[in-house]
Amino acid sequence: MQLQLTAAQRSFRDEVRDFLVSSLPAEIAEKVRFGRGVGKDDLGIWTRLLNERGWAAPNWPVAHGGTGWSLIERHIFDVECRRAHAPALSGFGFNMVGPAIIKFGTAAQQQQFLPRILNAELWWCQGYSEPQAGSDLASVRTRADRDGDHYVVNGSKIWTSAAESADWIFALVRTDQKAKPQRGISFLLIEMLTPGTTVEPLYAFNGKRLWNQVFFDDVRVPVENRLGEENWGWTVAKSLLGDERLMVSRVAENKRLLGRLREILAEEGLREPTFGTFERGLAELAIRLDALEMTSLRLLSEADAGGQIGAEPSMLKLKGSELVQAIDELTFAAVGYWAAPLDSSLLGGNEGPVGPDHAEYVASGRYHHRGFTIAGGSSEIQHDIIAKQVLGL
Ligand SMILES: Cc1cc2nc3c(=O)[nH]c(=O)nc-3n(C[C@H](O)[C@H](O)[C@H](O)COP(=O)(O)OP(=O)(O)OC[C@H]3O[C@@H](n4cnc5c(N)ncnc54)[C@H](O)[C@@H]3O)c2cc1C
Repeated sequence: MQLQLTAAQRSFRDEVRDFLVSSLPAEIAEKVRFGRGVGKDDLGIWTRLLNERGWAAPNWPVAHGGTGWSLIERHIFDVECRRAHAPALSGFGFNMVGPAIIKFGTAAQQQQFLPRILNAELWWCQGYSEPQAGSDLASVRTRADRDGDHYVVNGSKIWTSAAESADWIFALVRTDQKAKPQRGISFLLIEMLTPGTTVEPLYAFNGKRLWNQVFFDDVRVPVENRLGEENWGWTVAKSLLGDERLMVSRVAENKRLLGRLREILAEEGLREPTFGTFERGLAELAIRLDALEMTSLRLLSEADAGGQIGAEPSMLKLKGSELVQAIDELTFAAVGYWAAPLDSSLLGGNEGPVGPDHAEYVASGRYHHRGFTIAGGSSEIQHDIIAKQVLGL
């Protein structure tokens, strides 16, 4: 188990820090720092800057534009990026469909999509969930019927984040109606502008457009846009995570959020060291974060040394997402009344922001992060996995 950075890792960390100081646009970092949200334009700028440096896709093989870093180096990179308030790149392209295209795509698909993902010229969304299929994803009903060299797709996907701004959707569709649930599913890449595809907004309880429902009505998709073998889409979907499974702890983001909480407490005059609720709460959160980081580093160094990954990612996902929400709660309490006007303006009120800058997006962040314990496998599902695979229950 490796707890201290080696000299080489420290110099790598310094190189990343220098790059961030010289290259990360200050106005983008400010938006991230205050939780204002970063749009496609800013994300595109940052993606291209990273791509120029060869660092846009640390998780991809070198042959396709990756960096060849170890998992520990990727962790260091991640921590430094979040620490500098760099925005996270689009997970749909870089962490999901990109690696799947690398693993299962034809040479033509790789050539068509990968360079454009790296350079933020092509944006994706994920079409997995359906009204009747969420945790139980194998129940997807959206169907794709073969018609010559096309599939004809009918059905609907729900909770589709970023569909309103995506160019393509990667979708799980049923291509064999008679096979057992996990068989008979295929993985299709569908251009959003294909006739018959419509996107309807879905709003969260705070009035924000957080998701969409995507409808497919006789959408004709060329067979060459299938990723992997017909009826083997489940295998493609499962492999999407791979090593990524260990990168779900949100350690870097938790560090950033805890750092922000410290700054906010200081700005609110609830300065350390004082005895009281906030200092105690801060200490508890810091201990939880330390434990999460140590566990994460232990598993990353084991994996770097060739160790097998079991159910541990479920634990990292559970603890990491719960910690984000716990930090949110204390931050929300720390800004107190300042968060309230924003709550109501999101719900349609016309009050402008009041109070200090640091309070403006605290409520919004807190609501947004509620989804972290649902998306990517709910906490109950993670508990189930741990109960079965670790405790043998
Ligand atoms: C912020 C956010 C973004 C999302 N973005 C996308 C996206 O871009 N693309 C996409 O395809 N999907 C997306 N989703 C959907 C997400 O994948 C699903 O919400 C998730 O898989 C849960 O499915 P469900 O909502 O159908 O809930 P259900 O599966 O119906 O679960 C309902 C409740 O029952 C519990 N439950 C279900 N099964 C079990 C079980 N076996 N044991 C114990 N408890 C159980 C769940 O934990 C949950 O509390 C997003 C969700 C959120 C919150």
